[in-house]
Amino acid sequence: MNYVITGREPADALRFFEDISAVPRASRNEAGIAAFMKKFAEDRGLEVHVDEVNNVVIKKPGTAGCEHLPPVMLQGHLDIVPEKNQDTVHDWEKDGLKLQVKGDILTATGTTLGCDDGYALAFMMAVLDRKDLRHPPLECVMTSMEEIGLIGAMKLDPSLITAKRMIGMDAGGEGGFLASSAGGGSVVVNVPFKFVEAKGTGISIRIRGLDGGHSGGMIHMEKGNSNKILGRILHNISKEMICNIAMISGGFKSNAIPREADCVVMVPADKADRAREIIARVEKEVANELAFSDKGFKVLVDTASAEKMMDLEASEKVIFLSHVLPNGMMMKSMAIEGLTNASLNVGVVTMKEGVVEYQVSVRSAEDSLVHSISDIVLDIAKMAGAQAELLSTYPAFSFSAESKMREIAMNTYKELSGKEGRVVAVHGGTEAGVFRGMIPEIDIVGIGPASGGAHTPEEWVDLNSFERAFNLLVKILDKLCDEQ
Ligand SMILES: [Zn+2]
Repeated sequence: MNYVITGREPADALRFFEDISAVPRASRNEAGIAAFMKKFAEDRGLEVHVDEVNNVVIKKPGTAGCEHLPPVMLQGHLDIVPEKNQDTVHDWEKDGLKLQVKGDILTATGTTLGCDDGYALAFMMAVLDRKDLRHPPLECVMTSMEEIGLIGAMKLDPSLITAKRMIGMDAGGEGGFLASSAGGGSVVVNVPFKFVEAKGTGISIRIRGLDGGHSGGMIHMEKGNSNKILGRILHNISKEMICNIAMISGGFKSNAIPREADCVVMVPADKADRAREIIARVEKEVANELAFSDKGFKVLVDTASAEKMMDLEASEKVIFLSHVLPNGMMMKSMAIEGLTNASLNVGVVTMKEGVVEYQVSVRSAEDSLVHSISDIVLDIAKMAGAQAELLSTYPAFSFSAESKMREIAMNTYKELSGKEGRVVAVHGGTEAGVFRGMIPEIDIVGIGPASGGAHTPEEWVDLNSFERAFNLLVKILDKLCDEQ
């Protein structure tokens, strides 16, 4: 193999990073990288387990004098987000990544770099490979399908892990120490309807120009939600006239704040002008409210024709739900400044065969709040006579004021860098939450190098920071040998 990163430390971890970059490892295509890791472990005489979803667990005994210490879990994910530039030719099933170094920055040519989460794999491989380190027994957990919903971690057999302390390597950034991540789920609400012959005048309403954003990381920025704005318009029209919905849809993913929503509403012909006045009034109100968050917001109104429309009872239920379903930040954290503690996102509204479906994403740093807030949505759905259910839940990594692992990691960082570390918390799901759910008493800290552009072809990592993050890991493991 032709290595492109030369003359840098840690030479072994960087070589391993290049080795894994040559193995295709998009989510759901982890069999090759799992086999690669299995061979890596077997070549070194290490205990290795690969399960049916391609999670890999490699165990290494503690070094001399540290054999009897409690084990430490090191953790990261095997898969990467397969994004590429439009003009880049890349077969995610077969091709390796083309790495390039510019100054201190490592990227891949036209594709994601997979530093998310390749640094974790490379660090674990170097620690497993080296013979001159001091560390407690290690349980290295490399999971599959993280990027498509933490699937591998959720399917991992807990009996493979005995560690009660963990160093997560999928977050942080240099000097950042992950101390909390959100749990959540998706409440799916269904309103069955029948089509009846359309009557009256059709008006098309399209919400446009909103910024959107990630429904976890950006929910505190109070961006307009197209589904909710549409609900407010429909509610105001329905206060003055009968209206049936002929078509409604908005948003694509429950974890994105929806930017657009479309609807065709049928109103009595003699009230169509009044309906347009109401739409214009609400547009003006909302534009004023969003002047500092969503400058581009607008409502496009047109005449529309429809042959069929939803029956009145179902139309009323949909208007009610679009209007009242709770949305946005519900609580901020009092433990960590700037962190959202609980939120909702009415992410998707779709019209399928005979049902209108809502997908509402619920997140919180506390599992109890995920359930409590989901219960509110379920109760509202029940009140509207709709069916609803909480699906796809994932557990929270809730903040602990006391964490020995975090304390050791942050003290070590200070010793090495002379700087204070920062406690980092994210309002999104991470595998740390899954492991906290699996092993409630586990003490977790997350560390990582300075990197950015994750999930895009611009993804990068600073190679100097890569080295410092690796040295931090090595030093933490060494210190854990002194802790009893
Ligand atoms: Zn990741």
